[in-house]
Amino acid sequence: MFFAIDRVLRREVARLFRGLQDWLLPVPAGCPFCGRVVQGDHPASPGQPCPDCRARAAFPPGLPLCPLCSRPLDGPWALCPDCAAGTPLAGVAAVGLYRPPLDRAIVRFKYTGRRYLAEPLGLLLAAAVRRRWPDPPFAAVVPVPLHPGRRRRRGFNQAEDLARVLGRELGLPLATRWLARVRSGAPQARLGRAGRQGNPGAAFVAEGVPPGAHLLLVDDVLTTGATARAVASALRAAGAGQVSVAVVAVSPRPVW
Ligand SMILES: [Zn+2]
Ligand SMILES: [Zn+2]
Repeated sequence: MFFAIDRVLRREVARLFRGLQDWLLPVPAGCPFCGRVVQGDHPASPGQPCPDCRARAAFPPGLPLCPLCSRPLDGPWALCPDCAAGTPLAGVAAVGLYRPPLDRAIVRFKYTGRRYLAEPLGLLLAAAVRRRWPDPPFAAVVPVPLHPGRRRRRGFNQAEDLARVLGRELGLPLATRWLARVRSGAPQARLGRAGRQGNPGAAFVAEGVPPGAHLLLVDDVLTTGATARAVASALRAAGAGQVSVAVVAVSPRPVW
């Protein structure tokens, strides 16, 4: 009993502390990714990545990517093995690979209370979506939900923060009520490769989706794509016509 109270108390104090961090952590004056204050010919816009981080965030030129899911290909394939086997996803737009500076920015965004990183990451994501779909055909942006317990512990859903910026930039409504996570998958970061492959823990249910709508699903990282495929299947079962995806980063190594 006392243990339970102690645990709840500690969790609530931790949550309060994270909430305070949002207020107390000053938005850095320099690049939100590397902290450098760039001067001279290329002054960074306030709160925006410096030209160096911007260049490093993009996919390396010439890297072969799966045209459907945007993950690097490890052979002369037309599609990656996952997409070749059939996928409910219509396409994936990504800023770049999960490596510096995006990996560090995403970890700081999710786990250290630096919610202001949603803005620069969301702006890069909006640019990636416009590159892939110059005239975005979507009815709404839909963040991948967190399980309610995890959302409570973290205090926010990083995908929702990104989707809010993306929706604003693309002029699309943010839809958070069509989709729910009914089972929590173990966080991918804590699973080995085998665990990520067979992480069937996460389950999603959808309802109220406008029939035939083309939706843009938003998440921070696409690793195996299992979560995105599970969500897309749920949205399509609920009536969505097509589901495309916008993620900040894709896994730099093949995970199929
Ligand atoms: Zn930088
Ligand atoms: Zn693919």
